Amino acid sequence: MIERLKRFINNGDLRKVRFYTQLITFLLFVYGGYFAISFGSSFPIFVCPFNSESAATCYLISLQHQLARPTEVIFSMASLGVLIGLVTFIAWFAVLNKAWCGYMCPFGTLQDWITALRKRMGIRFSTYTQNEFENLSKIKYIFLAIILLVPLFMGLGMLDREWFHAFCQMCPARIISPMFVGDFSQWMIDFSSVTIMILTSIGVAFAGLFFIGSFVKKRFFCFFCPMSALHYIFAKFSIIRFTKEGDKCTRCGDCYAVCDMQIKDIADDVISKDILRDDCILCLKCVAACPEDDALHFDIFNVKAFSSTKEGFAKRMGIEKPRDKK
Ligand code: SF4
Ligand code: SF4
Ligand code: SF4
Repeated sequence: MIERLKRFINNGDLRKVRFYTQLITFLLFVYGGYFAISFGSSFPIFVCPFNSESAATCYLISLQHQLARPTEVIFSMASLGVLIGLVTFIAWFAVLNKAWCGYMCPFGTLQDWITALRKRMGIRFSTYTQNEFENLSKIKYIFLAIILLVPLFMGLGMLDREWFHAFCQMCPARIISPMFVGDFSQWMIDFSSVTIMILTSIGVAFAGLFFIGSFVKKRFFCFFCPMSALHYIFAKFSIIRFTKEGDKCTRCGDCYAVCDMQIKDIADDVISKDILRDDCILCLKCVAACPEDDALHFDIFNVKAFSSTKEGFAKRMGIEKPRDKK
């Protein structure tokens, strides 16, 4: 029975599973408010509270808000509620970790839909060189530092209120998320002070760049996303593991060919067992594309939940017989 279930999962059509999961979670998170659905405000994905109808909200705004409190308040009983929010936020990382990005984040889904549109129009996508890729993917840690340090400096009285949720002022999700419920009011530059003007100008520029970038480059924004950096930092505490059995890998490169995040190690690294990398979105497209039994697998509590198999590969490719090992 268990073997049959495993076979069913490993031979399944991952593309369909992912498409419908992303569609359902997008509708739920972005429009859930219309149906009085509320999942709270501790989510490790970009479901922006600036969209008045979202059913859940990204925790980064609360995190910045709380860190900006005076130090004596942070370490008082008044912070108990904050602590609960923070623990919930971290717990979500532990449950799905980067699978939030591959399957649930509306902002990730939107980028995939823009990619699908480009494909339909027959326009080729562009890629980064390995050097560009390595440099660009560091930017997310700069944003993460802004999220954590700016409010702390505010709390210490070193920065004034103009810096209030500085990252959100620059975040394209603040501008784009409300558009889905017909609210375009965030497309503006706030001239109330020089700092706010600079931050909101960056936000508008980044939102414009989001659409252009996502059209030419798969998951353009995810390379810069500070939430992705946080996911990676907490990955060690997650109940899920993304594993590679190097001795079963033939380095055919099929996994790298389908990876939207250009993670070269997925094909090249035959040493590390833990193959989760900084930019991975745990879409598992590489597992579905791998033609070798158990070379790649996604585990929950150390139990294989989805593995690469010759049979699954052959089925997905529409070929009768599994590819023979060379
Ligand atoms: S990395 Fe992409 S999918 Fe993940 S939270 Fe950021 S925007 Fe969303
Ligand atoms: S597709 Fe599988 S066998 Fe091929 S390089 Fe990737 S992990 Fe190795
Ligand atoms: S390494 Fe695999 S799971 Fe990670 S982003 Fe690339 S294809 Fe998706």
